[in-house]
Amino acid sequence: MSRLDSAIRRLQAQRACLDHACAAIADRPGPVFELGLGNGRTYDHLRARLGDPDRWPIYVFERKVAAHPDCIPPDERLYLGDFHDTLPRAAADFRGQVVLAHADMGSGDADANARLAGFVSQALAPALAPGGLVLSDQPLAMPHAETLPLPEGVAEGRYHLYRIA
Ligand code: SAM
Repeated sequence: MSRLDSAIRRLQAQRACLDHACAAIADRPGPVFELGLGNGRTYDHLRARLGDPDRWPIYVFERKVAAHPDCIPPDERLYLGDFHDTLPRAAADFRGQVVLAHADMGSGDADANARLAGFVSQALAPALAPGGLVLSDQPLAMPHAETLPLPEGVAEGRYHLYRIA
C-alpha cells in the first residue's frame, strides 16, 4: 500500500467513525469536546454533521491555533493551552454533561502518545455524561467505559470508540 493509499484509508476511517458517533447522539443533545484542532478538518466535519450549535455546542482544545480560517471556533468555545491545563478545568465546567468527546491528538512519538492518552483518559472522565461516547485516534483507558465496535469497513485498532456506563 502506498503512503497515499494509507493516508486516504486513515481519513476515510476517521470520517466513518465521526459519522457513526454523530448518528449515535442524534437524539441526545449536549456539549461536545474536540481535542486537537489541528487544521480544523474534524472540527468542521463535526460541526457540519451535528448541525445546530445550540443543541451540540462544540468546545475545542488546542495548544496553538493554526487552523484554516473558516475552521476556528469562537473564543468562548475554545480552551486554548495544553490539555494538562485546560482539560481539568473543562471537566469541572461540564461535569457529567459531555455527550461526545473526539480526541485526535497523536504525533509520531509513540511514547508521548501513550503518556498523553493516559492523562486524557483520567482527566476527561469526569466531564462525560452517562452513556456518552468517546472517539479517539489513540487507545484510551477510560474508567467505567465499554469498548464499542467500530463502524463497518474500519479496521480494528485504526480508531477507538468507548461508551461511558
Ligand atoms: N483533528 C485535526 C484535524 O482534523 O485537522 C488534527 C489534529 S492534529 C493530529 C493534533 C493536534 O493536537 C495538534 O494541533 C496539536 O497541537 C494538538 N495537541 C497535541 N497535544 C496537545 C496537548 N498536550 N495540548 C494541547 N493540544 C495538543
